[in-house]
Amino acid sequence: MKRYLKHYINGEWVESTGSETTEVINPATEEAFGEISLGTKEDLDKAVQAARDAFPHFSQMPKEERVKMLEDIAEEYNNRKDDIIDTITEELGSPVEVSEKVHFMMGYNHFAQAAESLKDFPFIEEYEGHTRMKEASGVSGLITPWNFPTNQTSTKIASAFAAGSPVVLKPAEQTPFAAFILTEIFDKVGVPKGVFNLVNGTGEVIGDGISSHKDIDFVSFTGSGATGEKIMKNAAENITNIALELGGKSPLIVLDDADVKDAARTALTHITNNTGQVCSAATRTLIPSSMKDEFEQAIKDVLPEFKVGDPHEGNHMGPIVSQKQWDTVQSYMEKGTEEGATLLVGGPGKPEGLEQGYYAKPTVFTDVDNDMVIAREEIFGPVMCVLTYDSLDEAIEIANDTEYGLAGYVYGKDEEKLRKASAGIRAGRVKVNDTKADFAAPFGGYKHSGIGREWGDHGIEEYLEVKTILGYPQK
Ligand code: NAD
Repeated sequence: MKRYLKHYINGEWVESTGSETTEVINPATEEAFGEISLGTKEDLDKAVQAARDAFPHFSQMPKEERVKMLEDIAEEYNNRKDDIIDTITEELGSPVEVSEKVHFMMGYNHFAQAAESLKDFPFIEEYEGHTRMKEASGVSGLITPWNFPTNQTSTKIASAFAAGSPVVLKPAEQTPFAAFILTEIFDKVGVPKGVFNLVNGTGEVIGDGISSHKDIDFVSFTGSGATGEKIMKNAAENITNIALELGGKSPLIVLDDADVKDAARTALTHITNNTGQVCSAATRTLIPSSMKDEFEQAIKDVLPEFKVGDPHEGNHMGPIVSQKQWDTVQSYMEKGTEEGATLLVGGPGKPEGLEQGYYAKPTVFTDVDNDMVIAREEIFGPVMCVLTYDSLDEAIEIANDTEYGLAGYVYGKDEEKLRKASAGIRAGRVKVNDTKADFAAPFGGYKHSGIGREWGDHGIEEYLEVKTILGYPQK
């Protein structure tokens, strides 16, 4: 058993002031493999105070030193590669390859990118008649979910460090161990005391405490819309600035000139990567009506490429994170049939031979109407809705007929159509065909998908205030 019963406050590992703990379950075995303490408001207060005390010095730390600190973190993160991969595989159930190529890699890139962005970041700009300065806004409270244990924590922490903001992090209870490795990394490279604080605990106690804390100046949250709403209400009481990265129901528009098999493969990749537990995944696939039969056949043909099973055995898709999340996903699978969609592949229940572990089947519904619950709500599991359209205008209309706006995808060849569709989708990020990730590009959503943009320069901006100085040159 991994037992991490301490919090990290003011540069030291300290006992929790409470005695409550919780077990951490390996979703592939359904067995507890670790335990963490659940912090109290007293622990949180101590962490916030440590961050406040660190603020005057850290916010003034020369930029070059902060760049060096981020580079050292990236290097040490790399040294911990095997631990990070093993830990994420165990706590999230993601296949070893995914833990390496997605989870480990994303965390690394956020630290490396923040160091790069910081080098040329315009903290002071002279305009005719005035100076514009950007300064760290104060102490930041970070609340993160379980689906990307190093991606969301790293992008927030790297941006905060680049800006000069000390932080208090509360990771998700389901996947807390990757954050302990990050903490060990910060400790090893000598992040000044009080600049990074880790307090584990429940959302109801520590998450709520962060969002309502009078001495926290900025709250960055990633997770569900329901929790985002609570955080926004709490923050409103103190006029605390917030950033919210919430859910999505992103469309993938397949053009009529797309290779059908490739399009089916791309669509299935979206709902099976990280077992569909991806906020920006395309979960509504929009295909031309004329392509319907061919596309459905292509889904059946390529499905065997998406093997489900033990994360250690080279499978593409591991289990869902928890029993609770498995139950939620199952209920949506049942709902789809109830509301009249056609179950093409998959469906409720565990895949044959995988009774132990929270495994689910990649599931595709066709004949979906965009008003159905399965097309409107974020399922956060391996479930795809296939919808048909008769014109590109109609496709764009369906794509935008959602309360979300995190991402959009367009797949096909005709340049004019690719341009029209990508410009027409109202979302924070639109990807055309199989373009590679860009860690300098802003990430965040329109509408109910959130407030703010993370990653690269935009990520750093979130932790800064803008000051105008009139009548006195700064450089
Ligand atoms: P959640 O929003 O409840 O949890 C995310 C984080 O918020 C966790 O650290 C949690 O402890 C904390 N939290 C919970 N209640 C809180 C509160 N009252 N105040 C402050 N913080 C609180 O998400 P979940 O229960 O883990 O997942 C539920 C659904 O959320 C999923 O089915 C999925 O649809 C969605 N989700 C979205 C993302 C995303 O990246 N957008 C990530 C995870 C989950």
